[in-house]
Amino acid sequence: MTDGPTPAMRQYYSVKTRYPDAILFFRMGDFYETFGEDAGVVARELDITLTARGKDKNGDRMPLAGVPHHAADGYIARLVGKGYKVVICDQIEDPKTAKGVVKRDVTRVITPGTLIDSSMLGSAGARYLMAVAPDRKETYGLAFLDVSTGEFFVSAGRDYADIVSEAVRYRPSEVIVPESLPDALPDRLETVGVTVSRYRDDAFDTDAACERLCRQFGTATLDGYGCAGLSGAIAAAGAALRYAQETQQSPLSHITGLSTRIPTGNMVLDAITLRNLELTAGIRGEGDGSTLLAALDVTETSMGSRTMRSFLVAPLVRKAAIEARLDAVGWFVGHSIERQALRAALGEFADIERIAGRIAYGNAGPRDLFTLRESLEAIPDVKTLFAGDVPALVREALDAMDDHARVVDLVGRAIVDDPPALAKSGGMIREGFNANLDELRHLATTGKDWIVEFQQQERERTGIKSLKVAYNRVFGYFIEVTRPNLHLVPPEYERRQTTANGERYTIPDLREKEAMIATAEERLSALEAEIYAELVRTLAEEVPPLQATARAVGLLDVYAALAEVAARYGYSRPVIEENGRVVIRDGRHPVVERHLPVPFVPNDTDLDSSGDQIMIITGANMAGKSTYMRAVALCCIMAQMGSFVPARHATVGIVDRVFTRVGAFDDLASGQSTFMVEMLELANILNNATAQSLVILDEIGRGTSTLDGCAIARSVVEFLHGKASAGPRTLFATHFHDLIDLEGSQKRVKNFHFAVRDTGEDVVFLRKIIPGATDRSYGVHVAHLAGVPKKVTDRAIELLKEASTRETPAGPRAPRYTQMLLVDSGERAVAENPAVGELRSLNPDEMTPIEALNALCRLRKMA
Ligand code: ADP
Repeated sequence: MTDGPTPAMRQYYSVKTRYPDAILFFRMGDFYETFGEDAGVVARELDITLTARGKDKNGDRMPLAGVPHHAADGYIARLVGKGYKVVICDQIEDPKTAKGVVKRDVTRVITPGTLIDSSMLGSAGARYLMAVAPDRKETYGLAFLDVSTGEFFVSAGRDYADIVSEAVRYRPSEVIVPESLPDALPDRLETVGVTVSRYRDDAFDTDAACERLCRQFGTATLDGYGCAGLSGAIAAAGAALRYAQETQQSPLSHITGLSTRIPTGNMVLDAITLRNLELTAGIRGEGDGSTLLAALDVTETSMGSRTMRSFLVAPLVRKAAIEARLDAVGWFVGHSIERQALRAALGEFADIERIAGRIAYGNAGPRDLFTLRESLEAIPDVKTLFAGDVPALVREALDAMDDHARVVDLVGRAIVDDPPALAKSGGMIREGFNANLDELRHLATTGKDWIVEFQQQERERTGIKSLKVAYNRVFGYFIEVTRPNLHLVPPEYERRQTTANGERYTIPDLREKEAMIATAEERLSALEAEIYAELVRTLAEEVPPLQATARAVGLLDVYAALAEVAARYGYSRPVIEENGRVVIRDGRHPVVERHLPVPFVPNDTDLDSSGDQIMIITGANMAGKSTYMRAVALCCIMAQMGSFVPARHATVGIVDRVFTRVGAFDDLASGQSTFMVEMLELANILNNATAQSLVILDEIGRGTSTLDGCAIARSVVEFLHGKASAGPRTLFATHFHDLIDLEGSQKRVKNFHFAVRDTGEDVVFLRKIIPGATDRSYGVHVAHLAGVPKKVTDRAIELLKEASTRETPAGPRAPRYTQMLLVDSGERAVAENPAVGELRSLNPDEMTPIEALNALCRLRKMA
């Protein structure tokens, strides 16, 4: 044995210094050897014999523990399972041909979060590598990467508690954090049993991360993944990817994209969906009457109106929370007397919340305080409306509403009835509130009385009827005499000023009084301002409870308003489930139905993420496709915000997110081509939709050639259908008739179309959605209407029929073109026609001839 380390051990030390925090498995012949402290850990953790060989750098005997290379995976998995990081150093040239010592290098770094070999993976559940990147002050971007499957998503946390709860939720096997992050977070993560590794700071740089991710995914931007602008999330994702690549020493080409899952207690409605569904702003912008908000917001107070909006843009996702709101709304639906009384009372309420805000800022005006008092005085009466049993949320709101007796008393004593809007106008403090103020007021008023008397007296003494005592800021009080009367002015008048119309004078008596009045008034307004400011300061202490009351008033207002809408428009209470269903009977569009000159035709929906998952909807332009799809989305949103819904019955399996891709707004896109925008929005949907989501796609693929568009549309449906047993509930309206074949190849795809009744001369939209695909002869029909010779259109219909019989194999499937049936087969058409119901309701025995004639006309119109 020679002195000093052998060449192999020198190799060992050079690798080991690069990975001081990992256990180095060093290949020697048929064994992976570990040395020194590593050997101690291995022997202890894996229960294998510790031996010693040669000498270490200090000349001591070198501890050694080895495992046979063919059995190494099991040992490594056990070590990694215990939270250790293992570095594999292999021989990278054939020992037989090697000259001198065989070359070795690191081939894999295995950390708990990057364990990839299936042989080492224990459980079937995901094994996430989690990364935490501090974003702006106090917020954190999070990334989760399952190296074994390529699953990759980002999320965010507001604080350490959020991060820890995400860690508990996803159970990462390893969390990486920047080196410079203070210990507090790693410590907390370790207490919940996750392994934390520190990773170099520069890996968490957002720009570098963005570049790395784009390179990995082969994209130009990350916009299509829904994480645009989430710099922390991007940084975390980039760091996770880099860490995985470094440890695996592989490009990890199975990681091809990521999704964004920002956790909230609410349904996610992104900006595109808010716009497409016209939830709070219509196509013509805010204040447009065509929004859902406008349709629902019959609140009586500003607080209620704001609460309604906040409910609408953030529907709930927890069943219990939704049910609690529905209970509150339902109670008001069933108690119309209390509802009307509450609404009448709230109608008189001031915006307590805003006034409280102005009090806090110190700029509340006297009229604010007066109306605040009036509103607060009404609270006890409001409370007495709810003497008996009420649902929990109503009780909670009532309990949160304070009478604010102190504010009422103070403002009542301090502020006059009907005060000015602004404090600087003065005169707002009530008589009797402050003795000094009252005395000054007295002085000022008596002074003014003296002036009035003085004027009268001087008029009489001088005989100048038009003599006036007036006031201005520069000269104070003065006597004014017009030019024609100047000869009557007595000698003791001292001239002060000449004006165009005459002269101004004063006398000692007046000067004396003037000084007194002026000081009194000056002091009066100074004192009043001071008293008022002090009052507002006192009230500022009451701001937090006032805000709590305001919130409670807003909530009560919304419950009652939603009940009011439900009662007025015949909505029903939705059944909330925690599965992937949406079942609607006679559903309507809450906004469209209000603006139609004719009755809205209700429709049914049966969606199920693991059953009839995807509806392919065909039908002519203007048939009612997009109205229908939006109505379904609005129904889910309304149900989850706690509202009743416009349907005879609705069962809503909770939706985590609504995605929409709708054609109508393409022109709003700036800079990017219409098609690019369409694809970006589509990418966002495909990357983020879960089996709990609802996806509305209106005419995907229109922005490109038919062939391209159709291919994209088809593959989108296939992707959304996926291989798993469930996928996002999807409504897909399309002009690409080729897509109806998908019903045959994808088991959760179903075709639907909008019924059209063709009278031969006229086409009537029945607005009814029915199973099966529409026929293509609609185009032929339009050709006919346009005057294309009958010979041609007849031949076209013939060709279509041939094509349809050729393409549809005989079997139990529904015929492809049920619209032909609708027109051809009397029975089918009758079944769908609303006139039939009307006809059945008639009783000819009891009708007069005129009534019968009227009924006939009505039926003719409906048919
Ligand atoms: P599509 O998307 O098929 O082109 P739309 O959904 O835009 O058709 O509907 C066109 C028009 O038809 C709507 O503006 C509305 O006036 C009317 N409409 C749609 N659905 C119904 C319905 N169920 N009942 C009555 N009218 C409807």
